[in-house]
Amino acid sequence: MVLLNLDTDTTLQKIEDVGKTTNVKPRDYLGMSQLGHNCERFLNYYFRHCFTEDISAQSNRIFRTGHKAEDDMIADLKAAGITVYGEQDEYSIVSDHCRGHNDGIGIGFPEEPDKPHIIEFKTSNDTAFKKLLKEGVKVSKPMHYDQMTLYAHLKDLDHAMYMVLNKNTSQYYVEQVTIDHDHAKSLIEKADRVITQETLPQKIGGMSWFECKWCPAYDICQLNKPITPSCRNCKFVSIEEQGQWKCLKTDQFLDQYEPCGEYQLDQWLLGENNE
Ligand code: SF4
Ligand code: SF4
Repeated sequence: MVLLNLDTDTTLQKIEDVGKTTNVKPRDYLGMSQLGHNCERFLNYYFRHCFTEDISAQSNRIFRTGHKAEDDMIADLKAAGITVYGEQDEYSIVSDHCRGHNDGIGIGFPEEPDKPHIIEFKTSNDTAFKKLLKEGVKVSKPMHYDQMTLYAHLKDLDHAMYMVLNKNTSQYYVEQVTIDHDHAKSLIEKADRVITQETLPQKIGGMSWFECKWCPAYDICQLNKPITPSCRNCKFVSIEEQGQWKCLKTDQFLDQYEPCGEYQLDQWLLGENNE
């Protein structure tokens, strides 16, 4: 007879175990989809690989659902007579240290038929969708607004089309956005600050602030837990052109970020004088 441990030996538990990913490092570059984050201090921790994250199987399924929904949204736009092209066009700023990819470019929208628009696809739960209906993307989803603004600015376009699927009801939300190019320039300046300035910005809140409670950098920022060692936060690293990083100890470009025995944390990341 096989004895089952009902807490762990279930089909659901097995699915959850194999579907999760652990110790996930931030991307190799500052993502344009992150640039509108309300906390610039978080972006510094992110760009310097100061933390790793465990991503649950449920979160991974949410990402997967979002990717799959994009194909349906493209098909629905095409069926409505809109030409969609340039899926995954890449954008790069600040010596290739900040990058992003648009979901597509569309032309033939009834709102402005002759003008190409950056297209951004998202999925949403019902609560966030209702908020979006009430407030619009700029207020309700400022990071998405900033992402589209930047792509359109870098592509020299004046419009974007924001399309969201409600995962509960299958309802669509579609909003045309007119690009504020001055705002795009301020986002490029922000990316430049995060990448080049060695000063940790102030916290946006304390331990119980709602945005902080969900932050992957919470432990190092709010609880002073150790920063994950990486060449990216070593005092001997130098940020170079073309997205490159160089070790000043060896004078070699780095193709990986696992720290060596000479590693020392760059002290500005402790932000001790800037709480
Ligand atoms: S915990 Fe709060 S202050 Fe600290 S990095 Fe995260 S969002 Fe910013
Ligand atoms: S000294 Fe070591 S840890 Fe620091 S940047 Fe060079 S290789 Fe990386």
